[in-house]
Amino acid sequence: MHTRRRVYIAYTGGTIGMARQGDGSYAPARGYLEELMAALPELRDPRAPAYTVHEYPTLRDSATMTPREWTAIAEDIAASYEAYDGFVVLHGTDTMAYTASALAFMLRDLRKPIVLTGAQIPLCELRSDGRENLITALLIAAHEAIPEVCLSFGSRLLRGCRSVKVNASGLDAFASPNFPPLAQVGIGIEVDRHLVLPAPAADAPLQVQPIGDDVRIGALRLFPGISAAMLAAVLAPLQGLVLETYGSGNGPATDPAFVGALAEASAGGVVIVSCTQCLRGRVDLEAYATGTGLARAGVISGYDLTAEAALAKLYYLFAAGYSPEAVRDLMGQSLRGELTRPGTP
Ligand code: ASP
Repeated sequence: MHTRRRVYIAYTGGTIGMARQGDGSYAPARGYLEELMAALPELRDPRAPAYTVHEYPTLRDSATMTPREWTAIAEDIAASYEAYDGFVVLHGTDTMAYTASALAFMLRDLRKPIVLTGAQIPLCELRSDGRENLITALLIAAHEAIPEVCLSFGSRLLRGCRSVKVNASGLDAFASPNFPPLAQVGIGIEVDRHLVLPAPAADAPLQVQPIGDDVRIGALRLFPGISAAMLAAVLAPLQGLVLETYGSGNGPATDPAFVGALAEASAGGVVIVSCTQCLRGRVDLEAYATGTGLARAGVISGYDLTAEAALAKLYYLFAAGYSPEAVRDLMGQSLRGELTRPGTP
């Protein structure tokens, strides 16, 4: 007889399992998600995988996530890794793209699918998108040979470290602006096999890189009027900064104090990565003088990395103990399919 596939569900919180409060707002409630899931006939269908729900002691609105929670999720999955065919992480949508990016880096030599999903409308509501998102994620985690951290939402399965939240109210809330979806979720689940990363060597065990509280990473979005003093204050405590620049990587390079603050921090070992504020396209620091000026001050290109993936990658590399020089080098290489450099496939 065919044994039923098994999926581990790490339930971290988010809208999907929230209950309506007396004042009309939504908040997570202990035990409530499992109660709702037990009432879904689809999950009792023999074609659905068997599942275990691990509800975290503090169910979070994902706006309260920190690298400490990323580490807890990664270690939790690693502890259950051998016993399950795949993993679903139920998560709030607000920071789902950050967690998906972080898990992609923190879990090395992954050979089983990890699928993050959630909902824009809680499962307890009539028009919830959570039911379909949950069932799709369970089926992908149980049956698809995708050795990656992915994000399944609405009609698409995305590579986790390419995903961004693009819609605060629409049901197709996520996009992967610089990389095609790994699968389209329509009448069928159509996986684009040639996009999926190859599985690691058969004898390579899963490795987890925790991120400790001592790693100091930041992000700063440039805006007209930003001063050198503001920039210096942000840079002062950091090891790494995601600098969200204009267009193809431009910034106020004609302000000597601003460029000086960048140069001083870079020379002191801070890794400053330029990501574009635009939703699509890539950084090319050689396109304009306002980009080359930043590059001369030590800013490195994040190419087509999302700001979320750049932040998670900096956290990961510094947590893993790489020197600033090595971090600079690895930021420009694709470790989990998170970036494409010009001239490479
Ligand atoms: N604020 C919620 C969260 O990110 C939104 C959601 O789940 O959709 O946890």
